[in-house]
Amino acid sequence: MITVDLHAHTEYSHGKDSPAAMYAAARARGMTLFGFSEHSPRPLGYNYTREYREHLTSCFPVYVREVRELRERDPDGVLLGMEMDWMDAEQDFIRQAVRAYDFDYLLGSVHFIGTWGYDDTPDDWRQFSDRECSRHYEAYFLAMLNMVRSGLFNIASHPDLIKIFSVDAFRNWLTEGDHTDLVRDVLAAIRDTGMAMEISSAGLRKACREIYPGPVIMGLAADLGVPVTFGSDAHNVDDVAYGFDQLAAYARSFGYDKSVWFRKGERFEQAF
Ligand SMILES: [Zn+2]
Ligand SMILES: [Zn+2]
Repeated sequence: MITVDLHAHTEYSHGKDSPAAMYAAARARGMTLFGFSEHSPRPLGYNYTREYREHLTSCFPVYVREVRELRERDPDGVLLGMEMDWMDAEQDFIRQAVRAYDFDYLLGSVHFIGTWGYDDTPDDWRQFSDRECSRHYEAYFLAMLNMVRSGLFNIASHPDLIKIFSVDAFRNWLTEGDHTDLVRDVLAAIRDTGMAMEISSAGLRKACREIYPGPVIMGLAADLGVPVTFGSDAHNVDDVAYGFDQLAAYARSFGYDKSVWFRKGERFEQAF
């Protein structure tokens, strides 16, 4: 059984519930360790349709304070983390954000290609040809490679999020030409930098209806011996530890029986 969920948001970004409520839900679902990974505030110019920059920026210190309070009460059961957007052109912003607090761990996420938040709306994707999709997939994995090589992060979250609105085209792309090699390079870099790859149930709730990452990438990761973490990417109490039985069976089918977690950047293993 998976008892560690390392990906969760709160009412201080676009989530719905308080840190205390999320923690209570995690305990109620049998989690022995719960990691908060609120979004980092984003620089101007990186916008979503329903933008929450001001709210998140002003609330972030409150998030940190409340999670620290929970961690003080349950030092073995709570971790303070953050989900940081990787933006190729924002190195200074990123470095400042990750140093701002004493995070136990950092998720590195590619939600933007250039300044385009590609996971915002399916409308953007409807008009793309296969060739355009292919260009975006490639740009995504190149950005992810930069994220991993920066050495700033512990976990590569939702590793194939780019498939969110075009999963069939993505599956084709993945096994065409040298695309598998590019993805393999990213996974090898994750392993070689001491990071882990997240297995996320969020994909099950999104348009792609598939765990992040899909089976091809899972197979590559298992062959390379890439450590894994589990995350629900919950934005409300109902989604905490969402689909974890399915995630456990999925990971086991690729030979995994341990996941990892991080405290103050140090990596620990846990059987599931
Ligand atoms: Zn994310
Ligand atoms: Zn998230």
